[in-house]
Amino acid sequence: MQSEYDSQNIFARILRGELPSFKVYEDADTIAFLDIMPQSDGHTLVVPKEAAVDLFGLSEAGAAAAIRTTQIVARAVRETFAPDGIVISQFNGAAAGQTVPHVHFHIVPRYASQALRGHAREQASMDVLKAHAERLAAALAKR
Ligand code: 5GP
Repeated sequence: MQSEYDSQNIFARILRGELPSFKVYEDADTIAFLDIMPQSDGHTLVVPKEAAVDLFGLSEAGAAAAIRTTQIVARAVRETFAPDGIVISQFNGAAAGQTVPHVHFHIVPRYASQALRGHAREQASMDVLKAHAERLAAALAKR
């Protein structure tokens, strides 16, 4: 597993504001934005701001902040998209499916009528992502 943190990874660049994202939530320790290649409608990523490759490199405080934000955002995802279920996942190491080497949590809504799309496969339409982000951000803003 990779242990050295690469400060040029894509989420580090999003955190620094060097790359855009459809951000729906931010606090002192975490940020949440839509996955650009969503496995289902509303697929959202929660990213601790701490520079850590994976769960093993994250401090206990960082882990606590990340799971707190994951619960907050997952509640809003449930309210906004009314899925039949929600998967929360977190991958450590390429062998486990991790493709971006900055620790993050996936919130993946599941719909009984919709098959799950491939992991990190197909970029969604920017218009659809924007519309989903606006709805989710609105739910988070009024909580
Ligand atoms: P991992 O495979 O590391 O657990 O998950 C990385 C996730 O980040 C994938 O689901 C992939 O679709 C998503 N992703 C990759 N590049 C970008 C990007 O530039 N912006 C956003 N918002 N998501 C990305």
